[in-house]
Amino acid sequence: MANIFEKIIAGELPADIVYRDDQVTAFRDINPAAPTHILIVPNKVIPTANDIQPEDEPLIGHMIYVAKSLAEKEGISQDGYRLIINCNRHGGQEVFHLHLHLIGGRPLGPMVVRK
Ligand code: 5GP
Repeated sequence: MANIFEKIIAGELPADIVYRDDQVTAFRDINPAAPTHILIVPNKVIPTANDIQPEDEPLIGHMIYVAKSLAEKEGISQDGYRLIINCNRHGGQEVFHLHLHLIGGRPLGPMVVRK
């Protein structure tokens, strides 16, 4: 069964898509943590960061390049932003289709890792 992000990529579920090419789709998070909160998602399914293969290295680099380009487009480059990939239970991953969070538009404070 297709995961929720596959359905968004296929156009079967609505999303505010801000960028798309043959490798990635980027759309606004439904529950934004900051004024800019965009998810950059590979078009092919990679469930978690643990599943990244050597042949995926250019794709992962492209995801980061798209993130920085979108940060420029959003006007948050100079003030700064945070890029996050959550992995599995301890990382707080909820959707098992690799995604890069681009979060910014306000001071984000220290990266909190609770003890
Ligand atoms: P994770 O915790 O897996 O790193 O992040 C999953 C993110 O996907 C969450 O920030 C959540 O708000 C977002 N999300 C979950 N379902 C949907 C959806 O249907 N549409 C959009 N646009 N974002 C979603």
